[in-house]
Amino acid sequence: MIPKQNSKERTILKYTKREFEKMLKDKLMSECNVTLDTASADQIYRCLASITRQIMSDRQKRFQAKVLGEGKKQVYYLCMEFLMGRSLRTSLFNLGLNEVAESVLADADIKIDTIYDQEPDAGLGNGGLGRLAACYLDGMATDCIPGTGYSILYEYGIFKQKIVDGWQQETADNWLPGGQVWIKSHPDQAQEIRFDGQAIETWEGGFHHVKYENYNSVIAVPNDMYVAGYGSQGVSKLRLWQAKAPSFDMSSFNAGNYNTAISQSASAELISKILYPNDNHTEGKILRLRQQYFFSAASIADILQNHLNQYGTLDNLPDKVAIQLNDTHPTVAIPEMMRILLDECSYDWDTAFDICRKVFAYTNHTVMSEALEKWNADIFRSTLPRIWQIVCELDRRCRIELEKAFPGDYGKINYMAILGDNQVRTANICAYVCHAINGVSKLHSEIIKDSVFHDYYLFKPKAFKNVTNGIAYRRWLLASNPGLTNLLEETIGDGFKTDASELKKLEKFADDAAVQEKLAKVKHENKALFANYLEKSTGQVIDPNSIFDCQVKRMHEYKRQHLNALSIAAEYLYLKNNPNAEFTPKTYIFGAKAAPGYYMAKQMIRMICKLGKLIDEDPAVRDKLRVVYLEDYCVTLSERLMPASEVSEQISLAGTEASGTGNMKFMLNGAITLGTLDGANVEIADAAGHDNEIIFGMLTPEVNALKGMGYHPSAFISGDNTAMAVLDMLEKGWNGENFSEVTNNLRNSDPYMVMADFKDYRRAQQTVQQLYQDKKKWNHMSLMNIANAGIFSADRSIMDYARDIWGATPVK
Ligand SMILES: *Cc1c(COP(=O)(O)O)cnc(C)c1O
Repeated sequence: MIPKQNSKERTILKYTKREFEKMLKDKLMSECNVTLDTASADQIYRCLASITRQIMSDRQKRFQAKVLGEGKKQVYYLCMEFLMGRSLRTSLFNLGLNEVAESVLADADIKIDTIYDQEPDAGLGNGGLGRLAACYLDGMATDCIPGTGYSILYEYGIFKQKIVDGWQQETADNWLPGGQVWIKSHPDQAQEIRFDGQAIETWEGGFHHVKYENYNSVIAVPNDMYVAGYGSQGVSKLRLWQAKAPSFDMSSFNAGNYNTAISQSASAELISKILYPNDNHTEGKILRLRQQYFFSAASIADILQNHLNQYGTLDNLPDKVAIQLNDTHPTVAIPEMMRILLDECSYDWDTAFDICRKVFAYTNHTVMSEALEKWNADIFRSTLPRIWQIVCELDRRCRIELEKAFPGDYGKINYMAILGDNQVRTANICAYVCHAINGVSKLHSEIIKDSVFHDYYLFKPKAFKNVTNGIAYRRWLLASNPGLTNLLEETIGDGFKTDASELKKLEKFADDAAVQEKLAKVKHENKALFANYLEKSTGQVIDPNSIFDCQVKRMHEYKRQHLNALSIAAEYLYLKNNPNAEFTPKTYIFGAKAAPGYYMAKQMIRMICKLGKLIDEDPAVRDKLRVVYLEDYCVTLSERLMPASEVSEQISLAGTEASGTGNMKFMLNGAITLGTLDGANVEIADAAGHDNEIIFGMLTPEVNALKGMGYHPSAFISGDNTAMAVLDMLEKGWNGENFSEVTNNLRNSDPYMVMADFKDYRRAQQTVQQLYQDKKKWNHMSLMNIANAGIFSADRSIMDYARDIWGATPVK
C-alpha cells in the first residue's frame, strides 16, 4: 500500500552510526557546551530532538517541493485537538534512526529509554478525537499524501491528574519547557484575526462593500512541528497558532491607562492559553468561540495565501485543496472562507459557495446531543459580526433550497436550517455546505443517516460516507511492544511494518503450538514489565499471573466504567460468600480523566478507587481480585499498558461510542475485546471472528426500542439478586463513605442503561474466566486479534479519505 521509495531517497534517510554520533556530539558541544559523557539526560534529549526535527524539516521541504512541482492536491486537517504524546521515539522509528541512536548512546553507557523519558507528553487534546488527528498526520506522511494539520498552540494542554483519597485533582500541564524543542515559530507568517465591533454592509457605485469598525485584533503566530512517515519520503506538518497581542498599546500606556494596555494584551493572549478539558460535551463559552474562530480564520488565511502564491488565482482551489473539518469545532472556517471570497476577492455568492462546497468535508464524531455544538446567536453576532451576516445569508438560502426539496414541510426545514431557537447550529452548516459528511465506523455512519442527519441524508444522500477510524499502529506495536514485534518478524517477515494487512499472515499460525507458546511468553513478559513499572512509579504491586483486564479511556457515563465497577463489586461479594470457589485471579486496571466540571464522572472515579481499597485491605480476596486506578492516563501511559493487556473493556451503550480507537490499540496487542456491539467493536469482531471476542449487551435497535417503550431501570434491578446486592452495598457504603450519587442515578434514570446490560455483562465476565482456563483457546483468540488488526491502521483510513473524500493521490 505504501509507495516504495527508490534507492536514492533511501540513502538520504540513512546515517551511519559514526555520522549520527558526530551530529549528536557536535550539537551537544555547540548548544550546551558539554560532551556526551558529561551531558545530562535532559541535554541529550533536547539535542537528539533538535537533530531529529532538523532532519524532518529538511525532508518536509523536499517533499513539499515535489508536491508543488507535481501540482498535487493538498490536504488540510482542521482540528481543535492534536493529542500528540511524545515525539522522539516514534520520530526516530519512522526515520529508521532508532537503532543507530540507541547504539550511539549505548556506547556511552546511556539507556535510550531514560532519554525518551525526559520528554513531556504533548497533551493538546482530550482523548480519542485528538489522538485520531495525531494518528492521521502519521498516516498521511506514511502514505505520501501531502497533509497539514492546523490547531492551537495551547500553553497548557490537558490537565495532569492526581487522585487524592479517591478524588480527582487537576494541575496545570505546563508542557512547553520540554516540548518546545519540536516547535519552530514563524512570526513572519503571522495573521491578524479580528473580533467584535460592527460590520456595516454598503453598496457604493453598485459594488458591495463591508466596513468593519471598532474591532479588536489578535495576532496568530504559526508554530510548526513535523511528523515523519515510516519508510516513506512523506512528512506531515502540524501548524499550531499562538495568540499574541498586536504591538503593545503604548499610547494607552503613556496616557496612564496601564490597566487598559495590559489587560488588552492579556485578553488577546488568553485565546491560546488553555485547552478546554471537556470530552464529548460542550460549554458554550465565549472564549471557546474565540478559540475556534482564531485558529480557523488563521488557517484559512494561510491556506489561501499559499494557494495564491502558487497559482495566482482561487478559481482552481477545489482542484488543489481539500479541507477536512474534524468535528464541528472548526465550522466557522466555512463562513470565513466565504467572507474572504466575497469581501476580499469579489466573487459572487454562488461561485464562492461552490468553491466552499467542493473544498470542505466534515467528519462527525458523535450523535449525543450534549456534544453537538450550537452557539447562542447573540454571542455569535457580537463576537463575529461579519461572520454572523454570512451565516444569516447561508440560513436564508438554505431555507429556500430546502423549501424546494420539501415544499411546505416546515418541521423538516426548521430542523435542518442553520439558525433556529436563537442558536447557530454548526452541524447544520457542515451538513448543508460540505460535499462529504462521514461517520467514523460502519455502525456510526449508518446511525447518523438514521438519526441526527436523517433529513440531510434524504436531501443529499451521496454526500454521506464512512471512514472507519484507524491508529498509527507502529507507535503501539513496533515502538511499544518490541517483544511482539520480534515474534512477528521471525514468524511472518517484516512486511507488516509498512503494510498492516500483512499481519494477516499470522493467521496460519493460529493453532501452531510453538507460536502460541511464544506469544503467551511475550505477553507474560510484558505483564511483568508493566507490573515492575507500576511498582516503581506508584508502589502498587500487581501479580503478572492474574488476568489483566483493562478499561482506559475518558471517564464518562456513556462509556460505563460504573458497569465494570458494579461487576467487580459482584465478584467481591461472590468471593466473600464462596471463599473456596474456583477463581482465576484478576487485576482490573482503570485509567481515565474526568472533565473537571463533570460531577458524576468524578463520583465514578471515587467509587472505583474506594472499591479497590476495600478489596486491597481484605485478606480474604486481595490475592484473587485487585483494582488499580492509574493516575494521569495519557498517550505515553497507553503505550506502556497496551502490550501488557489481556482483556479490552469496550462496554459503552450500543449506539453511543462513534468508533473508539483504544479498542484498536488493544486488539493489535493481542487483548480480547469484552464489549458491546458499538462503534468499531462491530468491525473488530467481524475482522477477528465473533468467536474471538466476548460480546454482550443490547444491540443498537434494542436500545432504541427500549428507549421508545420508556426505559426504567427498576424493571431490570428487581428481578436480579446480584444487581440488588451490589447497588445496596454501594449505596450503604463502608468506612463512613457511600456512593449513593451513582446508585441513585442508576436506580432512577440510568441514562446509559447500565442496569439493562448488567446481567449479560456478568455472564460475559464469567466467560472471560472460563476461556482463560483454556490456554490454547485463549492464545488462539489473542493471535486472531493480532492477525486481523491490520484494517485498523491509520494508513488505510487515510487512503479511504484520499480516495472517497479528498480526491488526493500519493506523491510518487
Ligand atoms: C487512544 C486514546 C484514547 C481513546 O480511547 P477510547 O477508548 O477510544 O475512548 C483516549 N486517550 C488516550 C490517551 C489514548 O491514547
